[in-house]
Amino acid sequence: MTLDSKIRRRLWQAAAVLPFAPPLPRSVWAVQASPRARVRPGDPDWPSSAQWQQLNDQVSGRLIAVRSPLVDCRATPASAECAQLFKAIKNPYFIGDEVALTQTLGWVDAWTSSPSVYAVAARNTSDVVAAVDFARKHRLRLVVKGGGHSYQGTSNAPDSLLIWTRRMNAVALHEAFVAQGCAASSAPQRAVTVEAGAMWSQVYDAVTTKAGGYVQGGGCMTVGVAGLIQSGGFGSFSKRYGLASGSLLEAEVVTADGQVRIANACTNAELFWSLKGGGGGSFGVVTRVTLRVHALPENFGAVNLTIKAHSPTAFRRLIARVLAFYGEALMNPHWGEQIRFRADNTVAVSMVFQGLERSEARAVWQPFLDALAAASEDFSVDAGMFAFVSVFSAGVLVADARQAHARLYPQR
Ligand SMILES: Cc1cc2nc3c(=O)[nH]c(=O)nc-3n(C[C@H](O)[C@H](O)[C@H](O)COP(=O)(O)OP(=O)(O)OC[C@H]3O[C@@H](n4cnc5c(N)ncnc54)[C@H](O)[C@@H]3O)c2cc1C
Repeated sequence: MTLDSKIRRRLWQAAAVLPFAPPLPRSVWAVQASPRARVRPGDPDWPSSAQWQQLNDQVSGRLIAVRSPLVDCRATPASAECAQLFKAIKNPYFIGDEVALTQTLGWVDAWTSSPSVYAVAARNTSDVVAAVDFARKHRLRLVVKGGGHSYQGTSNAPDSLLIWTRRMNAVALHEAFVAQGCAASSAPQRAVTVEAGAMWSQVYDAVTTKAGGYVQGGGCMTVGVAGLIQSGGFGSFSKRYGLASGSLLEAEVVTADGQVRIANACTNAELFWSLKGGGGGSFGVVTRVTLRVHALPENFGAVNLTIKAHSPTAFRRLIARVLAFYGEALMNPHWGEQIRFRADNTVAVSMVFQGLERSEARAVWQPFLDALAAASEDFSVDAGMFAFVSVFSAGVLVADARQAHARLYPQR
């Protein structure tokens, strides 16, 4: 039996005791009550205050009794405090800083965001190990939250213990990284090690703004790094640089048996491959990832324009023209982002490019735009919106209006 298959067997055994699973309605557990059922508040086996205190001591006081700020608003929705909360909640950075909240409140008839009972606001791998061990020992539901952007609601669960990685957000550049155990098979390369709770804005800042490199992540600045990598991760320039998980070189993972494992192409390789798109939380708690840093392309830009068809028939022709143009000219590593076909017979283009001069990008579009101009009875192009801009200087980012750094990097 290989080391990998031994680990895999042990993982499955541990997973039977402690699934990192999405929440099931309580009624399901009640019907299927078995020795493996999770312990809930009110159950005789729910940990005592002294046991919670023990966990709190183990994690240096970073155990939080979770209370959603929405609770008071259910009782008094018209209060000034609620008005303030609903204003703040439009800010994804605010939501990310709140232990009880997720970036979406739920999905109708599927799930509703529900806070955990307790959370470990982890700052290091030992905190994560303590939480995993505690949950396994007491048969608790365990959930992991990074950026909180799960559309499926897999980073929250009622009656659970939460590992909240928000404060594990250190980022470190390497000029010559070699994954552990890979010295014989891979050359040193530029890389960045990111703690699991960092969001992409922090990584882009460290890698691109401060170090002049490029790392492939996602388009949304507040998405969590570990969550996106584990779901594959597609970004604006993935047609050039691949999935974000394709740049994963190494990860540190706490598996359900409480062991800290290094996973890369040479060490625990099966665990490594499973992290590259196997779904957040499926195989353990990732505490840090190391990603390849690519050379920064010389040019980035964006094209924004709106095309209006003057009749439904012309709109059908426009759709065919756009799809043909996309296939011929835009489906290549230079171009990314979106073209939207709208109900009002318009096509909205908001695309970005890399590796082209402004004149080269314009030359790509010119034949298509000329053809539209030659059929002006059918189409009009909003020339006011026809713009080439630099992605990183055009105010694409919206500032966090709060006292950002005090809020983003709270010390505890
Ligand atoms: C507004 C928005 C924009 C998005 N844009 C993009 C995009 O451009 N490209 C793209 O590919 N996707 C995008 N997504 C999808 C996003 O990448 C996934 O939902 C991703 O899983 C979110 O990660 P998170 O850490 O923010 O979320 P979370 O909800 O915190 O985590 C997502 C899942 O990963 C698990 N998880 C988180 N951290 C860890 C960890 N350290 N160890 C183990 N498991 C963990 C959680 O338990 C959960 O199951 C977007 C989502 C939203 C809401």
